[in-house]
Order: sequence, then C-alpha cells, then structure tokens
Amino acid sequence: MQIQADYYDGKSARRAAATMTIVGRVVVVSRDGFSSEYAIDAVRVQSRLRGAPRRVDFPDGSAAITDDHAAIEAAFGVASAQTLAHRLESHLGFVFTAIIGVVVAMVLGYMYGVPWVAREVAERLPDGIESQLAEVSMKSLDQAFFEPTALDSDTRKKIADGFDTLRASTDLPKTVRLEFRDGGWIGANALALPGGVVVVTDQLVEAMPGVDETLAVLAHELGHVRHRHSLRHLLQDSITALAASAIYGDVASLTSIAVTAPTVLAHNGYSRDFEREADAFAFDLLKKIGRSPKAFASAMTSLEKAHEEQPRDPNKLRRKIGLPDKEPAAEKPKERKRPQGEKSDFSYLSTHPATSERIRAAEQAAGAP
Ligand SMILES: [Zn+2]
Repeated sequence: MQIQADYYDGKSARRAAATMTIVGRVVVVSRDGFSSEYAIDAVRVQSRLRGAPRRVDFPDGSAAITDDHAAIEAAFGVASAQTLAHRLESHLGFVFTAIIGVVVAMVLGYMYGVPWVAREVAERLPDGIESQLAEVSMKSLDQAFFEPTALDSDTRKKIADGFDTLRASTDLPKTVRLEFRDGGWIGANALALPGGVVVVTDQLVEAMPGVDETLAVLAHELGHVRHRHSLRHLLQDSITALAASAIYGDVASLTSIAVTAPTVLAHNGYSRDFEREADAFAFDLLKKIGRSPKAFASAMTSLEKAHEEQPRDPNKLRRKIGLPDKEPAAEKPKERKRPQGEKSDFSYLSTHPATSERIRAAEQAAGAP
C-alpha cells in the first residue's frame, strides 16, 4: 500500500513530497531519492481531527502529513471513529503525566496554597481574637515551660526601654509588649506570640554580652510580630490539620491543634523565609534607631557559645510533670548531660540556627548605608 504525503525532516521547515509504503510491519518513506525504514510499531499516528490533515510521527523526529485518512486507517489500523479523548486515555504515558500533574498540583497547593490562605486569614482576623489568643498562649506557655523572671529590675528596665524605642520606630501598635520569663527547661529563647506579645527568657539575656545584643534579638522578634509569623504558622498547621481531618474524618488531628499549640509557639519552627524576613526587618530597624546590625551577629555568636557551654537541667521538666529527679540537680551540674532519648530541643538555636549566612547578612547590613 502506498500513501502520498508531505514530509518534514524535523530539523528544517522544508517540505518534501514523499511516498509511504507499508511492507509487512515496516514503513518505508521515500523522498528526494532517499528512503528510510521504520518499524510500524514505532510510528505514531495522530488522531483524526475534523477537517485537519493527519500527521504521522517517525521515531527519528521526522514527520509526514497526509489527507489520505482512509489509507492511513487501513495501513495503521486506526479506527476512524476514535476520539482524541479516547486516544489520550488509552495512552499510558499520558495517564502517568496526568498523575504526576495532580501530585505536583497538590504539593504546590500545600506549599503555596496553605501559607497563602494562612496569611490572608491572619490579616483579616479581628484584633480582639488575636489578643485573646495571645493571653491563652501566654498562659499555656507559663504552665508548660516558664517560671517568673529572676532578672534584676535595672536590667529589665534597660531592656524594656530599649524595646519601647524599637517598637516606637515601627508602625506596630502600643499593645505590642515585652514579657520577661525564666525559660526553665527551654533555656535561652525569645519568641513572638500571636497578638504581639514578645517573650524573652532570663537565660537569653544572661547569654548576651550586653543589652545591645538582647535588643538585636528583640528587633528580630518584632519582625515576626510585624509579619504576623506566629499566627500564620499556627494557622498553617491548623489548616493542614483541618484538611487532614476533612479527608480522613480524623477528629484526633483537630484536638491535636489545641494540644500542640504551646509547643508550636515555643518551638517556633519558622520557615527560612520567615527568618530571613524577620532578620531583614531587624537590620533595618536597628539602623533606624542608630544601632548597628552587628549586634545581631554578635548575639548569634554568643548564643552559639552559651549553647555549647551550658548543660540544661533535665529535672526541671520532670518535676513539672511530677516525676522524681533522675539525678541530684545541684550536686554535679558540670557533668550533667541531656537526658537520653530526648529529641526535641527548644533552645533558640534549634529554631534559629546561627548560620554563617545570617551572621554575614547582619555584618553586610551593618556595612551598607
Ligand atoms: Zn525568628
């Protein structure tokens, strides 16, 4: 059987008149005195589209186009009634591509959709709800981790005044406030709760060489407040849990929001984007009030040092939950190690890695005008 067609070599736009001859299971394409042979199974015939000529693709990238539908269907066994959709469905490669497409859409939805919704909700949430959330969060953190501060009032006043100066240089409302706490088991840390409550632990203040460094960390926390990171973070987790409970009908994941809220807040496992955003905010703010972002670099370095030197007291948490001490707390503090099997580390550094990248960024910001 012979079929007349226009032939394209797949490399140029040049058209050549060609003849396709089907010999057994082989297609021979002859044009310009050349001829090529292809196994019939390797040749792809386009579905018939109304009024359009038919395209035949060869494995080397070349193609032939013909109007001779009857001959094509006789030669390649393509039913004339075959629809494009049917052809797509029956094509395994297309099915796989579609599945991958759906998975990619779901992953993108999770990565970008959930944070987007969380940001939109966070920005529309009435202030009253947010400040209520702040009080609840503060209360549960006090119950779970914190003790009253033991810092002397002079130190507290210096830091509180500095915090007020920082806050006054932003567009943040006066309701944004600073709380001092003994960090207890979580040690040196600073966190921003939804509703604009910033908490700094005694251990963090003590680990800093001076007030400037503490304020640099607080400027970073104000960045989290300004961008409502903790609320967005909490909402992202809640939306994910809500979605999971909707899909699996799992009420347990809903109650887990309430249970994990204090942990999420304390741990503040923000994304790198949130951290970068808060860092940039802090550098700008420090410069605005005539301080150097270098203090932030120095704060990170000091935290790293303190983290290496100070073993934490594992018994504080044990006492809180009514367990006897594992070992005498006061006797041999130098030899005390982290309790075995304990994986979570709530220190500031575990959630705010003092990467060389961040330290460099602070030094660069200090150098820039
Ligand atoms: Zn942070």
